Amino acid sequence: MQVKRVEKQLNAFEKLGIPEIIKGMLFTFGSMFKKRVTRQYPEERYVAPAAVKGQPLLVENEDGTPRCVACSLCEVVCPPKAITIQAEETDRYIEREPEEFSIDMLRCILCGLCEEVCPKEAIVMSDRYELAAFTREELVFHKDQLLTPKADLRKRIDFTKEKFDKWNS
Ligand code: SF4
Ligand code: SF4
Repeated sequence: MQVKRVEKQLNAFEKLGIPEIIKGMLFTFGSMFKKRVTRQYPEERYVAPAAVKGQPLLVENEDGTPRCVACSLCEVVCPPKAITIQAEETDRYIEREPEEFSIDMLRCILCGLCEEVCPKEAIVMSDRYELAAFTREELVFHKDQLLTPKADLRKRIDFTKEKFDKWNS
């Protein structure tokens, strides 16, 4: 069956695009009275909500030790292979901890799989989103740079616990 094409006949105004121009001008005029959303960055910083997946960071216990037990699950699951862990034995009850733990933020795609797979609430997606540097090396973050007090990551930890029923057992 052949489909019949119906072409709309445009009048002289429509051919010149005048209705669209008027619509555009009305939209612009209406926008002049709306609340402005421009942020004066960097003086006015954006505080990301807990759902935002920013730079992954390592959780530091109250006594300054890392929560990470160097199980390497996050290293294995990381799609772009951004995580590198060197484990060492420890006298603490957890037996193993990372001697070195690095995340290459040039590779990281902020997918959050490392956080999802971690059994120890040891790596979380923070609200840190400013990732700019002058050299590639500066964007490879090492253990000391990644370790962050648990209190500073509380917002995301609580969100993850509630949203995904994670680390609750
Ligand atoms: S957020 Fe994704 S890409 Fe980045 S380190 Fe974690 S698993 Fe790898
Ligand atoms: S951060 Fe979590 S998943 Fe990664 S090695 Fe440490 S305990 Fe394992």
